[in-house]
Amino acid sequence: MGKENYIQTYGRYDVCFEKGNRCKLYDDKGNEYIDFVSGVAVNCLGHANPAIVKTINEQAQKVMQISNYYYNSKNIDLAEKLCKLSDHDMAFFCNSGTEAIEAGLKLARKYGRVKKGPEKCEIIYMENSFHGRTMGALSVTGREKYRKNFRPLIEGVKSVKFNDTENIKNTINENTCAVILEPIQGEGGLISADRQYLKNVRQLCDKFDALLIFDEVQCGIGRTGSIFAYKKFGTIPDVVCMAKGLGGGFPIGAIIATKKAGNAFEMGDHGTTFGGNPLASAVALTVLHELADNGIVDAIDEKSNYFIGRLNELIKKYPDKLLEVKGMGLLLGVKVKIDPRRVMDKCFSNKLLVISAGADVIRFLPPLNVKKNEIDEALEIFDKSIGEM
Ligand SMILES: *Cc1c(COP(=O)(O)O)cnc(C)c1O
Repeated sequence: MGKENYIQTYGRYDVCFEKGNRCKLYDDKGNEYIDFVSGVAVNCLGHANPAIVKTINEQAQKVMQISNYYYNSKNIDLAEKLCKLSDHDMAFFCNSGTEAIEAGLKLARKYGRVKKGPEKCEIIYMENSFHGRTMGALSVTGREKYRKNFRPLIEGVKSVKFNDTENIKNTINENTCAVILEPIQGEGGLISADRQYLKNVRQLCDKFDALLIFDEVQCGIGRTGSIFAYKKFGTIPDVVCMAKGLGGGFPIGAIIATKKAGNAFEMGDHGTTFGGNPLASAVALTVLHELADNGIVDAIDEKSNYFIGRLNELIKKYPDKLLEVKGMGLLLGVKVKIDPRRVMDKCFSNKLLVISAGADVIRFLPPLNVKKNEIDEALEIFDKSIGEM
């Protein structure tokens, strides 16, 4: 079967998917699954979205990649679109979430150096966070299970307790160049920042001239019901890192920054061969157009309320198994009293794909254009699966 030809980094289910449509996936035996994982918050317009397919076809016939020694119009348009949709002035493009984090961390180090000197290099990160697997992103990821086998990690990083103002107040200082956090901790279990906490962190960053970096790789690009999650929380960061949903299934990552932050990078400071290529940029433009201009994001709050209502009914029905709803928008979950892995497995055998988050949360990440009847269909299987446990 060729399965022995993998380096074994993933615990995969014994299924091989061949194709998809909206929130449905089909395996090589023709079985249909409801996909509420969406490639982990990636396929925001579902599988085989006609607008994305059309864009890929058209752009591939023109040009897919040229180096960053030259401009390309799709990338210029995408940078402009991201800045129009945000409170930011400039963008840098890469190919994944962890690369967007690396760009943010390097920008912060350079900012500190320009502002004060090499001693202004300390980066504060949150306990229970997840920012990616490369050495820099891993060094600011606050969960031991990801870090433990890869020391030494990068120097000059310090962790604080999420949502604990006193803790960060006692940690931040003149040599802090950045604070990085997820407005909603995704992998950590759908834990939201407190609005007031973010305001306090913003104030502290301003006081010590440190950059505030939001990792919106999972919670951004419409997931919360706004293109950028920070808008739902009322605090504007200096840098926003994004990826996952931005390409709707096509690999792309980006950061956007205010002029104050972005100008710290100068020619030669950072780069990537594939970053901002015309094909990925064209797809991201289409995704943003569909989400922001064709009403998909505006409809999320209502769908979210419906979804949460249905989940609360199930919590009432299974009080010994389900505890509470977590998350926001269509980044939703339910805290469980039973082993989340068993819930995933049971749902899988009933042909619903969901994933866990943290120690005790089952995550639902439908495409953002999901319909109410598709939510009903998925929750019917979830109901049945919990009932069988
Ligand atoms: C997935 C994720 C990343 C890493 O993105 P990759 O594309 O897998 O490198 C970083 N931060 C958050 C919050 C994520 O959910």
